[in-house]
Amino acid sequence: MALRHQLLNDDLIWHDRKRWYEALSLITNLFERHKGELAEVERIALALRNKIGGVDRFIQENTAQVCPDCRKVCCINKHGYYDHQDLIYITALALTPPQYGAGIEDAAPCQFLSETGCGIERSLRPFRCNWHFCSELIAFMNSGPPKPLREFNNKFRELQSLRQEMADRFFLILTMNRS
Ligand code: SF4
Ligand code: SF4
Repeated sequence: MALRHQLLNDDLIWHDRKRWYEALSLITNLFERHKGELAEVERIALALRNKIGGVDRFIQENTAQVCPDCRKVCCINKHGYYDHQDLIYITALALTPPQYGAGIEDAAPCQFLSETGCGIERSLRPFRCNWHFCSELIAFMNSGPPKPLREFNNKFRELQSLRQEMADRFFLILTMNRS
């Protein structure tokens, strides 16, 4: 699993653009060269996208109540970048990452933040954006009816395990075809 540790790991950061593009190229090339073997990864990515769409309403209903009054918005620029699992997901969906602006401080407002909220469709946001819930938001969600929250929590666990399955299968194919 050496390649995984060199390029595709949780340390991957946008600041090292050369490394980031190498990682993207590694993923893209694998999908191009081993499309058949990666068909299951593509299927899981699509299922994941649909399932993220399925939790959008619940999240939106809650953030719409809490976030407009927030004094310390969590959408800072460093959160707007894809990690390596996001890159696998996006490539499996035959999409490409956005062109990131250069020279933006990590702590500056996220480059995708607009007056109406995030400019990226929920299912295509960096995954971390979809599972970040600040304490105020959690408290608000907990104060609502328990059934929708329970259903959301269950769906969210499914999402996380599906995402892991997608990554595990990708790395299996990567390892099998490593030259
Ligand atoms: S999730 Fe929490 S920290 Fe982020 S904008 Fe909403 S209220 Fe603010
Ligand atoms: S939710 Fe959107 S605006 Fe907020 S940090 Fe993530 S990408 Fe940026």
